[in-house]
Amino acid sequence: MTLVGGGPGAVDLLTVRAWRALQTADVVVADRLGPVEILAELPPHVRVVDVGKEPGRHPVPQERINELLVEHALAGAHVVRLKGGDPFVLGRGGEEVLACAAAGVPVEVVPGVTSAVAVPGLAGIPLTHRGVTTGFHVVSGHCAPAADVSDPQVPPVTHTSDTSGPLDAAALSCVRDGTATLVVLMGVRSLGAIVAQSLAAGADPGTPVAMVENGSTPEQRVTRSRLDEAAEVAAARGVRSPAVVVIGRVAAAGLLEATSERRLAGAGV
Ligand code: SAH
Repeated sequence: MTLVGGGPGAVDLLTVRAWRALQTADVVVADRLGPVEILAELPPHVRVVDVGKEPGRHPVPQERINELLVEHALAGAHVVRLKGGDPFVLGRGGEEVLACAAAGVPVEVVPGVTSAVAVPGLAGIPLTHRGVTTGFHVVSGHCAPAADVSDPQVPPVTHTSDTSGPLDAAALSCVRDGTATLVVLMGVRSLGAIVAQSLAAGADPGTPVAMVENGSTPEQRVTRSRLDEAAEVAAARGVRSPAVVVIGRVAAAGLLEATSERRLAGAGV
């Protein structure tokens, strides 16, 4: 089984190794996110199994996906599990590797371009920037739905912060103290709770926030706001999943635009 990270969606953000794996597959088990357009371009003998997920709805439960991978692999097929972004960044790729290992199916991992980094980048937002911040922290804003909490393979989300909310202590310190850029995946629904928790903890209400929807696709859209207005702005503009939320000074509009002084310096004046 080859566990392939397909990048954020644009076909040309697949790696060459991912593309090669897809060309030699017998069966491709694919998600809703990621480079779904490549599926129509695969050689005709390739069987595509769509296990696509919508937020909060799992048409094919993870357990069944694991079984499918194992069944096809044990039947002798070259199985490619195509996932969005990187398989090991909030993608449950580790569970699929464990399921294959338990069945004696060898797994090759092809890392992917994760949306956590690539989607802000496509919107011109650097997660680190000299003089602004030297690190970033990636979290899920999604509290596991009830069905997942009872899954023995998925421990319930535990909060280590003293303030209740979706952010753990490390994530909260990024927003409150500006220790690092905070990148939230699956964070649209919990944005209001993230804002409330951060402000209650003492975060600067003026902290820049950027929300980047559908990164790398023709529908890519960037919405910016202050932290204290982020939930209202997101609602007013109809921000929807999939979106990456970036909180911190690097999310400020114009960070990478030349100021007149920098332009003059660049021109050697
Ligand atoms: N393994 C994936 C993340 C899976 S979690 C990765 O490494 O990218 C799914 C979340 O990723 C979405 O809710 C959204 O927050 C983010 N995401 C994935 N693709 C995206 C895209 N093209 N544009 C914006 N956000 C995206």
